[in-house]
Amino acid sequence: MKVTPMAKLTDAQRQERALNRARKAALEAEERDRRREEQRRRSREETRLSQEELQAGVLCPGCGEPINDQLGNWPPPAQMSEEEQRQRDEADARYRERHDQCDSPVRWSTAGSRAEHCLYCCPPPPLNPQAARALLQLISAHEEAQNRGSAAGSHT
Ligand SMILES: [Zn+2]
Ligand SMILES: [Zn+2]
Repeated sequence: MKVTPMAKLTDAQRQERALNRARKAALEAEERDRRREEQRRRSREETRLSQEELQAGVLCPGCGEPINDQLGNWPPPAQMSEEEQRQRDEADARYRERHDQCDSPVRWSTAGSRAEHCLYCCPPPPLNPQAARALLQLISAHEEAQNRGSAAGSHT
């Protein structure tokens, strides 16, 4: 085997090696980025629940409440029994405790369920177009209720 001593490298050869090293480093960095992005994508998909899991009553990975507790929507406040009002207040207190620092502008819940979730902590539920419309209605209804609440509060 013929060994070429390092000292005999020409400037051109040295430059080429340096270039190859730089190219290799760039490729490796690209590959690292790609892998990191892939991991991020996968973790997003894993926290997002499938429609089947939703039906099976799994708990929200964000807050631990059921995504759909099957309890049915709350009746309108005027029609709530004392017991239901008490439960509503408890649920509200639980939500506030869990999401004390979140500052989420709205809460969301799935149709037919009383469990409330945060926009920030809780991964969004899987949506079919119907469910998406229902969710948007819920959000706007909740915003309206909140606006009414603050209007009533300032009206002293
Ligand atoms: Zn939260
Ligand atoms: Zn949640």
